[in-house]
Amino acid sequence: MDNTEGMRDSQGLQSSLFFETPEEIYARVFRELRPRAALPELRVEFRRFANADSFIRLEEGRLEVRISDLLAGAPAPVMEALAHILLGKLYRKPVPRSYAHRYRLYLNRRDVRRQAHLVRQIRGRKFISGPQGTHHNLEEIFERLNGQFFDGLLGRPQLGWSRRPSRSMLGHFDPSHNAIIISRILDQPRAPAVALEYVMFHEMLHLRYPVDHAAARRRVHTREFREAEKEFPQLKEAKEILKQL
Ligand SMILES: [Zn+2]
Repeated sequence: MDNTEGMRDSQGLQSSLFFETPEEIYARVFRELRPRAALPELRVEFRRFANADSFIRLEEGRLEVRISDLLAGAPAPVMEALAHILLGKLYRKPVPRSYAHRYRLYLNRRDVRRQAHLVRQIRGRKFISGPQGTHHNLEEIFERLNGQFFDGLLGRPQLGWSRRPSRSMLGHFDPSHNAIIISRILDQPRAPAVALEYVMFHEMLHLRYPVDHAAARRRVHTREFREAEKEFPQLKEAKEILKQL
């Protein structure tokens, strides 16, 4: 807690007397970032988003801030860090690392993560197509790889094809919905099976090796993940094919 006045006292008394509304926090951070600019009208709202995302925009001279209600109970120093991040982004000012770090640490707390996970499950609707594509069946591929690399021990999540044939996201594992989604671009005869199998194998490794939250920064591909991935025999070939898609 570096520079929040209310938190600096050692008695713990001042912090209970020191109270800022979210609008006041944004106004103060705005003046810090743009000391010579006139303070615009400001509105901060908490919204029932399906995740912890927050948004800021300048609309007809008014600053509109929309924060996920997941953060409604966040301590003032966390709100202050988010204000630095959002206003910094809006006005293209570098965000001091201490604020980015503080905000990340908060989101990474076990209780906050659990709450975010629940909210995503409850609020986030997800379209999942089912495993049968036009040319490939994801369930068959999953079970074949399961037997080959995981002793058949991975529980099968929901499997589906993406709505659009995305090139940028070939596959992803969504832990909130326990689903593996594969890009429809791989459901065609000219996409070789080895490429599709590799993408599925990669997402299955995400199921097997969860994201490492021990550090402030999430580690998605851990060292053991990378090691396990090398067991895929045609790794190089598959990656080459995916590059050409
Ligand atoms: Zn990955």
